[in-house]
This record gives sequence, C-alpha cells and structure tokens, in this order.
Amino acid sequence: MKKLVILSVMLCLYTYGIGQTLQTTKPVPGKYPELEKMTPGMTEIWEPEVKIIQPGVTNSDAPSDAIVLFSGTELNSEWTDLQGNPSKWIVKDGVLISTRGAGFIKSKRKFENFQLHIEWRTPAEVSGESQGRGNSGVFLQELYEVQVLDSYNNRTYRNGQAGSLYKQYAPLVNVCKKPGEWQTYDIIYTAPTFGNDSASYVIRPRVTVLQNGVLIQNNVVLRGPTEYIGIPEYFIKKHGPGSIELQDHGNPVGYRNIWIREL
Ligand code: MG
Repeated sequence: MKKLVILSVMLCLYTYGIGQTLQTTKPVPGKYPELEKMTPGMTEIWEPEVKIIQPGVTNSDAPSDAIVLFSGTELNSEWTDLQGNPSKWIVKDGVLISTRGAGFIKSKRKFENFQLHIEWRTPAEVSGESQGRGNSGVFLQELYEVQVLDSYNNRTYRNGQAGSLYKQYAPLVNVCKKPGEWQTYDIIYTAPTFGNDSASYVIRPRVTVLQNGVLIQNNVVLRGPTEYIGIPEYFIKKHGPGSIELQDHGNPVGYRNIWIREL
C-alpha cells in the first residue's frame, strides 16, 4: 500500500513536471516559418454559388427542382404495372388507389439517391387487423419497403407497423393519424454501392423517414432487401438505379401528391 502511494505521488509529480515543460517550451527562433496570421476570409468559400431553387407554397408542395410523379390527374405517364403495362390502379377524385389484384405499380423513371414526398391514407372504414388493415408500402429502388399500414389502435409486430423499414427497423415513434386522414412520408434515401462481389454491399443503403413531419427513421443502415421470410443479408444482389414501387396488398390505400428530388 505504501509503495502504491509513493508510486502515485511520483506519477503526479512526473505528469505535473511534463505539463510545466510543455507549457514553458518556446519555439526556437528561425527554426520554423512563422504561421500566416489567419483572417476571416481564409475560411470562406464563395464559388460555385449554391444552386437556387424555388420552394413549394407549403412544405408538402413540390419545390421547383422536383419531378412530380403523381399530381392527382393521371397515372400512366409516370407509372406502369410490374410488367410495364398500364396499371389497373384507380384514380378517383385526385386520389390514386391501390387496387386489389392489380399488383404493384412502379415508376417508369429509375432513381439512385433521392428525397421522396408521398401522401397516403388508409381506408376510413376500418376492416381487418394487424397486417391486414390498410396495408400497402413504398418500395425504394424496388427492394426496400417503407411500410404503409393503419397503425392507429392496431397492434402488429413493431418492425412491421407503419413507418417501419419492414422487418428491419421499427419506427422511433408511432405518429399515425386516424384511418381516413391524410398522412405524409418524407423519405431520404442513399443507394448502396457494390464492388466486384455481387452479393455484398461496399456501402449499405441508408434511409431517413419523417412521418407527418416527425422523424421516425434516423439514417438507418439497411441489412439487405425487404424479405417477408428470411434473413435480408442472404438476398443481397448487386443492383443499379431502381423504380419507386407502391404495393398492392389487397387494401384500398389512397395516395396523392407524390414528388421526388434526385440527390
Ligand atoms: Mg406493406
């Protein structure tokens, strides 16, 4: 014990001594060039000027550099079914409705990194439970699903409720509105990159989601494609740009005001 105390005191003295030495050591004149005196301008970057765009009237409206994928009128200019044919999804009163048996729809354009705005509502008339109530989904690059579901008073597995990255990440909170009310997703997506190995990512895909203005997915790193059964990592396959897809899960979920900004 006595030895330990002596050792501690010596260590303190040694440390203090070094500290004193470091503080009192002066640079040798002429040995190094004098540092140029910093001015504020040395850390200002002016060029190129940041691109100017026009914001929407509200934060839900498309800014001037967005591609509008659905504005409430017609579907076929920007979307097809999965076979590339005109989709049988219904457009009624400005709302695009997921139609049972019609299958998924996909955007004709393919995307890499993007910011996507999409508004959705589950049926006001509640029927079904758990995954059977107001189920649809927004698939990023055709592979990664942001779940759309009526999660208002409707328990299901937490990594499968509205706002989940299906079966990978539960949303941070449940901020769902009532059935029949319009809700928003603002999704920021960073595409993965691949090397020579086609079955693994070099950089994995990342997703941020705001639902009704609230952060529910904070830059989560995806494990692999969305799988109903199985381990996502086992299904990784090299891919390039992909469509946005909307899921037909048999429930008449409505969509409107869909726009995207390529990043
Ligand atoms: Mg779904």
